[in-house]
Amino acid sequence: MNDVHSQANPRPVDDHYDAIILGAGISGLVAASILSAKGDRVLVADNYDHVGGNHMDWTSPEGYTFDVGSLIFQDDSPLVRHFPELLTHYVPVSPSWGRLNPQGKITAYPISIRDDILAAGPVGLMKIFSSVLFARLFSRKLRNARDFAQFWIGPYLLRRSGLEAYMTRFYGLPAEEIDLELARKRMLWISEYASVRNLIRHALKKKTAKSPTNRQMVRPQSGFSSLYEAAVTKLDGRGVRFRLSAQLQAVEKTANGFTVAFPERNVTASRIISTIPIHVSEQLCGLPSKAELRTITLISLYFSFDGRRGFPQTILYNFSHSGLWKRLTVYSDFYGRVREREYFAVEVIGGAEYSVAQAERDFRSHVSNNGLFSGDLKLEGSQILESAYPIYNHGAADRATEATRRLRAFGIESIGRQGQFTYQPTARVSTIEVEAALSQRK
Ligand SMILES: Cc1cc2nc3c(=O)[nH]c(=O)nc-3n(C[C@H](O)[C@H](O)[C@H](O)COP(=O)(O)OP(=O)(O)OC[C@H]3O[C@@H](n4cnc5c(N)ncnc54)[C@H](O)[C@@H]3O)c2cc1C
Repeated sequence: MNDVHSQANPRPVDDHYDAIILGAGISGLVAASILSAKGDRVLVADNYDHVGGNHMDWTSPEGYTFDVGSLIFQDDSPLVRHFPELLTHYVPVSPSWGRLNPQGKITAYPISIRDDILAAGPVGLMKIFSSVLFARLFSRKLRNARDFAQFWIGPYLLRRSGLEAYMTRFYGLPAEEIDLELARKRMLWISEYASVRNLIRHALKKKTAKSPTNRQMVRPQSGFSSLYEAAVTKLDGRGVRFRLSAQLQAVEKTANGFTVAFPERNVTASRIISTIPIHVSEQLCGLPSKAELRTITLISLYFSFDGRRGFPQTILYNFSHSGLWKRLTVYSDFYGRVREREYFAVEVIGGAEYSVAQAERDFRSHVSNNGLFSGDLKLEGSQILESAYPIYNHGAADRATEATRRLRAFGIESIGRQGQFTYQPTARVSTIEVEAALSQRK
């Protein structure tokens, strides 16, 4: 077990804390920031050997650093309010987003009026509009994400745009098995795009987009460690202790709070805030796990490339009807090429079903068929991330709410993307949700 900064900080160690935070991801760091700012003595424990949670990188033997996923941050994120020192470490970038549509065209993300609608031609346009009209007039009760998307854009455009294929790829389930509530919350943009007024506005919009009011940023070229080291140093200065590579064994309720058992010793706290997966908290507390919450395993493939790239965007989504990969991010657009080679990461959902070799084979054949990379494509490495995203099959959100309620009855405050079993697309959302959760406590 590593006690980060325990040598740098000579304060005598007292094994009682006001709060123990389980998990040192963004939610854990923000929770530690909030509590330590009001003077609480805090311990943060994580079984990873680093802070930052799923903000994870991997460096190839030749020294190029890749990330699990595509991680973009903004300088107006509330995370930066907690840790303004992060700002000097981030690298400002100007990313662009595109999408491969089922017709093999590189086009706008998430939908293009020109390429997805107008390019369908007169017959296609008739089919799009009649399918929307039919769906709006005759759709039964909406029961799942597919019903929701069909209601707004009709079954014909849902398939033609590749949105249905992408939903399956993203959520790890066919659209008809995805919970309606998730669709309502996370796919609002579909209804916004599909309103007649907005469609006209998008179609007439001048090409000169408004310049963004915030700055997009990525982690330092060397990886996340120097970035989050700055957050750890700040928290350490407020007396927050960190235990990394920690093996949590049990959480017991006592008359005065809780005892958390580590292999070496027990630590006590008045309060436990958990950002780790719900079923892990349940096991630690000895509670029966009834929730059956499934998560997606993500394979990240790290490539280098020398040749002709068939798209200009930094981040490309796969909306075509085939191919296992979901999204790719060209890191060398941010950090520069090495010996003329480009570097990028590819995310493949379904890591539990496919091997890395299968994912790589499928990617190579798909991008070759679509003219995305012609030249020398070399797999530099890969990583597998478990619990990357929650799988929202029917009733999952209700089961998660019920499970967090049971944990709450035991005394555990379960928050964050894993602790709430919620899809948090950005560190911004994670920060806002932790702030809200901690401010609700009397
Ligand atoms: C592929 C991908 C791409 C993303 N892209 C972006 C992006 O571009 N921009 C952005 O802002 N955000 C992005 N995010 C979202 C962002 O990563 C989340 O907002 C953030 O990770 C949530 O932090 P968290 O602390 O709630 O969860 P996590 O990061 O999952 O942290 C949970 C922590 O709990 C720990 N833990 C689990 N089990 C145990 C145990 N038994 N004992 C001790 N510790 C345990 C884990 O090790 C981990 O450190 C992305 C996420 C993913 C997965």
